Amino acid sequence: MKKTPISLIIDDPAPVLSVYFTHASRDTTADGRKLMEYYPNELLFRFCDVIERWGIKGKFSVVPMPGNRGDIINGIEGVTKRDLDEWMDTVKKRVEGPFSIGPEMLTHNLAVDLVTGEALGMDEQKWASTKDRKILTEYIARALSILKEAGFDPVGVTSPWTFGIEVEDEYQAAISAAVERVSGSKKAWFFLRGRRGVPDAKPWVALEEDGRTLVSIPATLHDHFWRTIDEPRTDDAFVSYLADKILTEDGKGGKFVEVLETGGFPILISHWQSLMSNGLATGLRALDETARRIAKNFSDRVEWMSFCEILDLVIADKASFPKPVF
Ligand SMILES: [Zn+2]
Repeated sequence: MKKTPISLIIDDPAPVLSVYFTHASRDTTADGRKLMEYYPNELLFRFCDVIERWGIKGKFSVVPMPGNRGDIINGIEGVTKRDLDEWMDTVKKRVEGPFSIGPEMLTHNLAVDLVTGEALGMDEQKWASTKDRKILTEYIARALSILKEAGFDPVGVTSPWTFGIEVEDEYQAAISAAVERVSGSKKAWFFLRGRRGVPDAKPWVALEEDGRTLVSIPATLHDHFWRTIDEPRTDDAFVSYLADKILTEDGKGGKFVEVLETGGFPILISHWQSLMSNGLATGLRALDETARRIAKNFSDRVEWMSFCEILDLVIADKASFPKPVF
């Protein structure tokens, strides 16, 4: 029997700087600790150890101009060149490949003027909500170009918040055109929507236009590690409790099983800040434990795939991946 694809979405990473810190409207965690502005590269190394240990694959964002504080080519405020280079080199060597790298638009904070680079007076989601494909194509192409200049080869994008959802037809056409312009690829993926609590939750062919194909890959689970940002607990029982939400030790309970049993692809999601857990890395430990349970209970039934692998799988059998009714 063919194995069911599974994948992991990681939203919001950027070199060292916490993009979440730059747009969170607070300075402290719920229990009063200072919210971390920068994550040491040791935590990235630990993430790499976890994905290598279990062969985890998926999608990993690199925000090109994180938080309106510079960019990944010319430097980021508060981040040394050594740390920036180390972060980028590590992602190229240990994350790219198993994880498809893509931008999460330019800043994941305030939209920018593409001519001056100056921040506009609104966040990227609000900015995008009234734009057409022509303007969105330029914006997305800039994000892809910065990643390309940095040495990646992105053929997909992640939507910061729900960027583009109000004008999704225009947004989809823009992604497809921007990917072809920057990388030459006629196939592209994007992540915007979730498909949770519905049967048969799978990716779908979102757009076919001018010989190009765009595939929408949804999250089919929630980010159960988000709460670790605000949680000082780090004990094993807590880590086990977090993993239980996705998959219990015996392989019988958790959202992972629900998605699998209803015919869908379990596409997990987490955020960089959820794995870093404000420096405690509790979310990362919960990911490690979750992946161990998946390997233990389902290694004969599921297979980790990158977004590029899922993209190829969908394009090879388009009729099996119709657009769902929302
Ligand atoms: Zn995000």
